[in-house]
Amino acid sequence: MPALSNRTDSFTDSVIRRMTRISNEYGAVNLSQGFPDFEPPREILTRLVEVANEDYHQYSVTWGAQNFREALAKKYEHFSGIAIDPDSEIVVTCGSTEAMMAAMMSVTNPGDKVIVFSPFYENYGADAVLCGAEPLYVPLVPPEFGFDPNVLEEAFRQKPKAMILCNPSNPCGKVFTKDELEIIAGLAKKYDVFIITDEVYEHIVYAPNVHSYMAALPGMRERTVQCSSLSKTYSITGWRLGYVIAPPDIIDRVKKVHDFLTVGAAAPLQEAAVAGLDFGDDYYKALQEKYTEKRELFLRGLDDIGLVHTEPQGAYYVLVDISGFGYESDLDFCTRLAQKVGVGAVPGSSFFKEPENRFIRLHFAKRNDTLNEALERLDSIKIKMGK
Ligand code: GLN
Repeated sequence: MPALSNRTDSFTDSVIRRMTRISNEYGAVNLSQGFPDFEPPREILTRLVEVANEDYHQYSVTWGAQNFREALAKKYEHFSGIAIDPDSEIVVTCGSTEAMMAAMMSVTNPGDKVIVFSPFYENYGADAVLCGAEPLYVPLVPPEFGFDPNVLEEAFRQKPKAMILCNPSNPCGKVFTKDELEIIAGLAKKYDVFIITDEVYEHIVYAPNVHSYMAALPGMRERTVQCSSLSKTYSITGWRLGYVIAPPDIIDRVKKVHDFLTVGAAAPLQEAAVAGLDFGDDYYKALQEKYTEKRELFLRGLDDIGLVHTEPQGAYYVLVDISGFGYESDLDFCTRLAQKVGVGAVPGSSFFKEPENRFIRLHFAKRNDTLNEALERLDSIKIKMGK
């Protein structure tokens, strides 16, 4: 038999999604892969039921249904202050996973360098490899996860084509301040680099932190390729509805990649999700409140158990320090945690470029009773995970 492509040789399957399978195998409360166990908004579900009996069962326009793009453009302008043309500046994708890959394929050539902050969401490494691009990792330093502008500039001096910026950040929960974004923007302009943003947690931010859009900074709109999704904002991760927003010359390229990769996102789901895109400010305020309460419940629960952890400014992940348990492999720790304690977590090493073995990632996008159940199980962590 001929040799298979070596394109995927350098990476494994997704550790995040593997941990979901392991959690399921041991009947663990799955706090690994980040997705909610509560209902999406009723209005969206009601519309989905109606849509089943309406005429939305064939392909929509490849770059997204007209009314979806129009509703998205309106919502985006409301929050970012940027007016965009729904015909030439949006592509609707199958989740932001496709959005990020399509953005990378549209911007980079094989051999190009791409700056990525570490820790980083694991897809970015694979995206870069599949595009033939070379990631240049720049550390976000725990526990605050700030960056050193000089170290970042050093990476910009290596002539990268793009930088990937996840804001709010998965997994460290950092929300970049406007000043930090200005530093990155200044470097992007100075060295003529694109910024590809992943802003899927844009509406999950804890006061007093606020989310600022990179594309809204002066001179950044033309070099920012913004990716986001409806998954987290409307609790519909299984619907796979994401999008890219960028200027028309970039979107022309993204449309081509998307057209040949997936043709389009599911038409009936786009139609139903318009109900969510049309929500007023109250919805987003209630979402913030809901997650603020969950964050409080979960973090204080971890404190009571005596676990050391990060305090996320945004998104819904927390990194717990497991260095006191004396494990050499955080993957072994997580597998044993699922088996013995009954809680699913992601090994921190899958997010770090540096040889970091002291964190596991848990998420709190769950019903309060699920979180309480997980905390109750975690209460025995010191006994069950001791060596
Ligand atoms: N963003 C989620 C996480 O980090 C998972 C997304 C996915 O699996 N597509 O857990």
